[in-house]
Amino acid sequence: MYSFLVVGAGLYGATVARELTDHGHSVLVIERRSHIAGNVFTYQLEGINVHQYGAHIFHTNNSAVWSYVQRFATFNRFTNSPVANYKGELYSLPFNMYTFNRIWGVVTPAEAAKKIEEQRKASGITEPKNLEEQAISLVGIDIYEKLIKGYTQKQWGRPCDQLPAFIIKRLPVRLTFDNNYFNALHQGIPVGGYTKMVEKMLVGIEVQLGVDYLADKGKWDKLAEKVIYTGPIDAYFDYCLGNLEYRSVRFETELLDMPNFQGNAAVNYTDAETPWTRIIEHKWFEFGKDEQGNDLPKTVISREYSSEWKPGDEPYYPVNDEKNSKLYKEYRRLADQEKNVVFGGRLGEYKYYDMDQVIAAALEKARELLEKGNSTP
Ligand code: UDP
Repeated sequence: MYSFLVVGAGLYGATVARELTDHGHSVLVIERRSHIAGNVFTYQLEGINVHQYGAHIFHTNNSAVWSYVQRFATFNRFTNSPVANYKGELYSLPFNMYTFNRIWGVVTPAEAAKKIEEQRKASGITEPKNLEEQAISLVGIDIYEKLIKGYTQKQWGRPCDQLPAFIIKRLPVRLTFDNNYFNALHQGIPVGGYTKMVEKMLVGIEVQLGVDYLADKGKWDKLAEKVIYTGPIDAYFDYCLGNLEYRSVRFETELLDMPNFQGNAAVNYTDAETPWTRIIEHKWFEFGKDEQGNDLPKTVISREYSSEWKPGDEPYYPVNDEKNSKLYKEYRRLADQEKNVVFGGRLGEYKYYDMDQVIAAALEKARELLEKGNSTP
């Protein structure tokens, strides 16, 4: 018997497992995949840490979370500065003075602000109700057309006027020459990759891989007093109220016999026609060097294709539109009746969490569980 069964060895599961173990509880972690670390999993290819499930750049304003992760990894000083490629024209991201200069020829912040204001006025939008209106009122119609509209429709498979406004607010708009994609105090990539970091988080904790909890739920439930479930909430209830929608991502990864393919970690293809949303070149997350500081002769790139999730695919992004938010609430009601089960993480809470938010939520949940002291060892 264990005090806790943690289903899923991603960041939420690993954090909760670490905290409960450190407070004297017996914890078993089970994971459906053949590896730990969930979607932050990285593996080495030709000395390059490949982000198998897409780019993960750790960034946070939460100093407690930042100091927490320092226990498990040393972070490099990577700063995310993606480039947007619109039909061969290159633009700086996030939207900043370099972007405004390239698109309108403006030179000063006052000129840029004036241009945005003019376009906002012309659009007649006062209270943005969806992503399209939010984007136009933040950066104007020209940038919306070239850098947002095509990318967003590919990414979400829905027109921008049917998506929630908050998604675009993830991106800063700056009247400075600052290409840092995130407004975060702390940022970096764990040296040696995320898998190594999560391995450290799970030191001394029993982990079983390749185990499908839902396929044999009854058996696993008997092993522990409480379950922390980090898989999809709708799958837990056997989709009894219908499927929640997710976006899935497919990666085409290639090892190239050249040292430098695109000169940057991320290039977004923001037109509607290019079938992929972005290409990541993994070596640039670590400055193109191996851990000893040697230049790497080859490179690994991944083209990212976004698609609607269907059973059998990996769910990546919850689609937090009205319809799905409503359905999630109904699942949440069912979840509240499962007294011995905690639902956590991007899939368990159907929430577009960043990594730091996942860790913060897991720390909070662990604290709550420990305070309740339901199963004091
Ligand atoms: N986005 C865009 N153009 C870009 C990058 C992002 O329109 O070049 C929009 C798009 O709607 C996307 C959202 O901004 O879904 C949030 O982007 P973010 O980079 O935060 O997404 P993630 O890295 O989580 O996929």
